[in-house]
Amino acid sequence: MSQACSTRVSTATDGTLDYLHQDATHWHDRRRDIDYASPGESIVLFGGLTPLQDHLLWAAVQTMGGNYIALPTPDNEAFRLGKAYGNRGQCNPTYFTSGNLIKYLQKLHEAGMSKEEIVRKYVFATASGCGPCRFGMYTTEYRKALTAAGFDGLRIETFEQQKGIFQMDEDLRVAPFSPRFFIKATQAVSIGDMINIMGYQMRPYEVEPGSVDKAMEEAKAIFTDTLTGGKSLIPALFKARRIFQRIPLDRTRIKPKVMVMGEFWAAMTEGDGNYHLHRFLESEGAEVIPQPLINRFLLSLWEAKHDLEKHANLPDTQRPMIDFKSAKERLMIEGGKWAVKGIFTLYARILGLRGYTLPNMEKLYELARDYYPVDSDGGEGHLEVAHVIEAVEENLAHLVISVKPFGCMPSSAVSDGIQSLVTTRYPQANFLSIETSGEGAANFYSRVQMALFKAKEAVKNEELGVRN
Ligand code: SF4
Repeated sequence: MSQACSTRVSTATDGTLDYLHQDATHWHDRRRDIDYASPGESIVLFGGLTPLQDHLLWAAVQTMGGNYIALPTPDNEAFRLGKAYGNRGQCNPTYFTSGNLIKYLQKLHEAGMSKEEIVRKYVFATASGCGPCRFGMYTTEYRKALTAAGFDGLRIETFEQQKGIFQMDEDLRVAPFSPRFFIKATQAVSIGDMINIMGYQMRPYEVEPGSVDKAMEEAKAIFTDTLTGGKSLIPALFKARRIFQRIPLDRTRIKPKVMVMGEFWAAMTEGDGNYHLHRFLESEGAEVIPQPLINRFLLSLWEAKHDLEKHANLPDTQRPMIDFKSAKERLMIEGGKWAVKGIFTLYARILGLRGYTLPNMEKLYELARDYYPVDSDGGEGHLEVAHVIEAVEENLAHLVISVKPFGCMPSSAVSDGIQSLVTTRYPQANFLSIETSGEGAANFYSRVQMALFKAKEAVKNEELGVRN
């Protein structure tokens, strides 16, 4: 029988609401009275992108003052810790992320640092948002897990996906969420995307095993030196280009192309969070088309513009006569879009990245709008549906995998429901929707292998068609 619980809400001396609990069966976030270290003394922890991008982001912020540490890629041990200390029924990116943080903090503690000192000094910087799915609860979940693990009160500073580059106006911050930070982050993430894409494009065709990974490591060292030294990126891009150009490739190998998309974190991480899906596909003879992180920036900008347009369509009585705010926001969104695209395109040309163009968000919207209610903007919104249609119509991939955490609301519950209509209308689509739960790798791999078998048959038939 469940234990009855009751909550008392009182007003603290400073006038804020203080949530207290009498029966201790539920956890509530609350204000802590901790003498935190000053920003100069504090250490900012962050992570959650691909290993290369976490590292380049670390390098990029070195010139901004402050102390930063990029956490390692979350593994199954992190997942286990996240589950042990977190609430039941959360999305597994929460478990992997909170567990990864706790694992790092526990190591500090084992090395001799007291928990009080860790809480005083360390800050976790991460993304947040208002949902509409469980994403809106992530920060609270992290706090709950930290408290349960004995790190109650550790500071978590967040930037909101929807708020653009001006996010320094709230509380005193240690994490550097200034416009300068977002520009540096865009550069670091773009370069990481390009090197990752080049790796995926070249690795299946390398003549000498390991040569592409070695080149990626060399490129990483060049960009680390450039970013930490605050130097110009252009000479570094030319240098890295020469490294990639020297790799011998055998392009006569026939490989099925597999697009990996789905929920942002599950599709992007290169670790236990998706059972190393990208490397598994390569080991099974495929060429992977990944979803670069920069696509997520572009989707956020598209969503912001779409919201503004909806606002502009309100009846006149509900709008100001001259809407300066909207005009300014529209300019900022367009500026942001061209800056992101401009940086990516310029750098990609210099680096020698071929065969990849950033997605056209307007086109993807047009492809998806008849199937997906585009105002449902949780997760990747309408993009999953659009990617499948685009892949079929433009013959981009022999298999499209949508990977998502178990029970992902936007991806499993909304997109996948709609994909059944899409695959009925496009019967030639080879589409696999697959969930990750942090367990059950054997089942996951066997479903991927079955879909890949079909993709291999398709690529063989294409070849035969060309020869006959
Ligand atoms: S998009 Fe899916 S996995 Fe991510 S927070 Fe929302 S429900 Fe969870």
